[in-house]
Amino acid sequence: MFGIGTKNIGIDLGTANTIVFAEGKGIVLREPSVVAKNTKTGEVVSVGSEARDMIGRTPASIVAIRPMKDGVIADYDTTVAMMKYYIQKALARKTGKPYVMVCVPSGVTEVEKRAVIDATRVAGARDAYVIEEPFAAAIGAGLPVMDPTGSMVVDIGGGTTDVATISLGGIVSSRSIRMAGDKIDEAIIYYVRQHHNLLIGERTAEQLKMDVASASIEAAKELDSQTIRGRDLLSGLPRTIDIEAVDVAQAIQEVVQEIISAIKETLEETSPEIAADVIDHGIVLTGGGAQLRHLPEVIADATKVPVFIASEPLDCVAIGTGESLKSIEVMKKR
Ligand code: ADP
Ligand code: MG
Repeated sequence: MFGIGTKNIGIDLGTANTIVFAEGKGIVLREPSVVAKNTKTGEVVSVGSEARDMIGRTPASIVAIRPMKDGVIADYDTTVAMMKYYIQKALARKTGKPYVMVCVPSGVTEVEKRAVIDATRVAGARDAYVIEEPFAAAIGAGLPVMDPTGSMVVDIGGGTTDVATISLGGIVSSRSIRMAGDKIDEAIIYYVRQHHNLLIGERTAEQLKMDVASASIEAAKELDSQTIRGRDLLSGLPRTIDIEAVDVAQAIQEVVQEIISAIKETLEETSPEIAADVIDHGIVLTGGGAQLRHLPEVIADATKVPVFIASEPLDCVAIGTGESLKSIEVMKKR
């Protein structure tokens, strides 16, 4: 047992969202990974959803920062400030420092991993441990990770898509590509700018993605068009346009194809036994990006393997990270 009354916690430190799991309680906090700071004093103005609402809308005195980029820490001090806030919030009035398990994408460098461990300690952890994100995602999705059978999980977040096959408690083959939700948003912004001379913000692009984006150009023909607002590049004035779902699908196709390539490459690297297991169990999608319309069908079509979305895809990594807290006791003895 650790300090009386102190719950150990698991943190899914994502590029888009930070989710905290407290031992014995489950998920206690879900917030965007955004911090608003005063540009002059460096003081934190707000953290989480309040800060996210400020993105693209800040006066000169405030800046809304997303401290994580492509799955790793891009702004160390801001990440520490954010984690400190979330750890305190998750523990409420509990005293004592918790042990913290944090996930990192597969394929990060030792330096990037170190940065996560250091930031977590500075933010108030008694000690910090890391778990590979696809492994956590697989546990959270309820896959039989410890069994002598191959499972495949594809976690599509904001910054990275992590693909992995897992068997007997370990990752057999994996790929992490910096192509996920954020790149889809960027592709939409680029498309609207090129074809409509309209500049739209990050939040507008993300909303458009959630409303009409589809992984399948064919299936998008059945979807309605959507009205969006932005700034006209020529006149500099606000303008409203209608955009067809099929055009949005076209705009994001490159990112979708990159994700499919990563899945195919990972499958190609696995042993025939594991490939056979994956055909039996199917590929499981987790992360917010798993909710992109028609994505399971498109991946299934390209790989000839059945594809499913995990229940609560956004929470899988946090649940798996929380579950793995049970192994901290073991890790400490190493
Ligand atoms: P991370 O682990 O990197 O923080 P998440 O797993 O929390 O990422 O997923 C966030 C990403 O999922 C964002 O890019 C968000 O735009 C995207 N997303 C959330 N809901 C949907 C949806 N319905 N369709 C497509 N993308 C979505
Ligand atoms: Mg994630």
